[in-house]
Amino acid sequence: MLRSHTCGQLRLADVGTPVTLAGWVQRVRDKGSVVWIDLRDRYGITQIVLNEDVPEALRAQARTLGREFVLQVQGRVVERYSKNPQMPTGDVEVLPERLHVLNESKTPPFVIEDEADGGEDLRAKYRYLDIRRAPVREALLLRHRAAQSVRRYMDGQGFVEVETPVLIKSTPEGARDFVVPSRIHPGQFYALPQSPQTFKQLLMVAGMDRYFQIVKCFRDEDLRADRQPEFTQIDCEMSFVERDDVLDTFEGLICQLWQDTLGIELPRPFARMSYADAERLYGSDKPDLRFGMTFCELKGLAAGHGFGVFDQAEYVGGIVAPGCAGYTRKQVDELTEWVKRPQIGATGLVYVRYEADGSVKSSVDKFYTPEVLKTWLEAAQAQPGDLLLILAGPAAKTRKALGELRLEMGTRLGLRDKASFAVSWVLDFPLLEYNEEDGRWYAMHHPFTSPYPEDIALLDTDPGRVRANAYDLVINGYEVGGGSIRIHDKALQARMFDILGFSPEEAQAQFGFLMNAFEYGAPPHGGLAFGFDRLCMILGGSESIRDYIAFPKNNAGRDVMIDSPSEIEPKLKKELGL
Ligand code: ASP
Repeated sequence: MLRSHTCGQLRLADVGTPVTLAGWVQRVRDKGSVVWIDLRDRYGITQIVLNEDVPEALRAQARTLGREFVLQVQGRVVERYSKNPQMPTGDVEVLPERLHVLNESKTPPFVIEDEADGGEDLRAKYRYLDIRRAPVREALLLRHRAAQSVRRYMDGQGFVEVETPVLIKSTPEGARDFVVPSRIHPGQFYALPQSPQTFKQLLMVAGMDRYFQIVKCFRDEDLRADRQPEFTQIDCEMSFVERDDVLDTFEGLICQLWQDTLGIELPRPFARMSYADAERLYGSDKPDLRFGMTFCELKGLAAGHGFGVFDQAEYVGGIVAPGCAGYTRKQVDELTEWVKRPQIGATGLVYVRYEADGSVKSSVDKFYTPEVLKTWLEAAQAQPGDLLLILAGPAAKTRKALGELRLEMGTRLGLRDKASFAVSWVLDFPLLEYNEEDGRWYAMHHPFTSPYPEDIALLDTDPGRVRANAYDLVINGYEVGGGSIRIHDKALQARMFDILGFSPEEAQAQFGFLMNAFEYGAPPHGGLAFGFDRLCMILGGSESIRDYIAFPKNNAGRDVMIDSPSEIEPKLKKELGL
């Protein structure tokens, strides 16, 4: 080896030991009679000191070293006079006998320290340099530890890691497929999997009993913030189970993951909430439960007092911002502008201040007496000193906007601590969603999700009321995973495709392989998949999954380092019949 120790290893106990280190020159500081080199590798930084005890020639050589030169240092460990308690190696330094440049480096385009001076695009273009920075490196190391933790747990529970193909057949799972043209079969295409859904179900038919895979999935979706066209799932499936068996198994996984990576014990069992309650109380199917601020429905109390907006609105709902009665006019105006932004889509914001002295002030006190306003405050369980914020309009849209306002207020009031974790299952999703635009039903989860047996009869009479035997896991307002008990009966699966608008021929052409498999003894089965990048992001307390992906794409879906997507050679295009 070109080194005896790493740059993160040496301590006081090593004083006097001859060592050889190798790493990158983070910085050279020259005080004339003393020169210091900070030498960095994956494990840390060690200070190399060139004082009057080393020959001047060595100091002269040190002065020629540029940032990011690859350097081998032979020397002896000495105790530092001025110790640096911030650094694990801060008690010692290395007094060199020889400096050997293993490779030179151009001056890097940004400073490779914890706080880089380069913008995001520049750092993405030189991602290999960005990864040398401690925070980026630590994120990848966290991801590694998380992956190992998952594998240990799954193996311990008897899950078998099976690889499924990446060149598959296009299936409608909700998003658009990426496709790969076939050269050998001109005019035909493979698709990249949005998930290994049908394969894992086939593995259950195949008797594998318990499957998992840490696997890349591909979705050609319109780019929204913090989406990646390729991302990683912890994909799982198990046979002979009911819903609660699945929930229990994967609570175990999440608990072990938190224990192994953060040393945190999450309380079990996890909370459970119905989809209906999540929407009613938080305006979201992935509520951030680190704080309360649940919705209060005010239509009943607000209608019939001559205020047209509330009289006509399908929904009137409010949240209590604790301690915010003192908000100035300007602050309220600014919040009003905030809710009116197109992304939020509210038409206005009504407030009721519950002053500390118990009096009431409101933007609608022309229409409502203080007594009436007090009934709202009571219904919302507001305390003197609180501010009630109210939105009104069409139910679904207004709940969503109020949900956004709730999150915004939670952020402003510091109620969303990254180091605390609120975990909940969301259950009882509707099986189907109706799309007004094309007049069709769509599977809310995917077409393989089983309805609750007691709801099957409703498929004929009232499909919108059928509940899916599906579940999502939500942590701190992020959907980190989801799955379902599957349909394992050919007739029910065929019925489902029929409701979703597939003719029997189309269903056979697209999913014949699965329906045929169901004729050969499919066991009852269910599973779920976690978004691994997102789990890492939450574990790491970050807000971007990109931080946990070694070579991510940017917001426009481009890899600016390798410059992809890009043109292909005309010859290749021709061979592919494009
Ligand atoms: N395949 C599903 C997904 O990617 C997860 C599951 O149902 O297991 O969302």
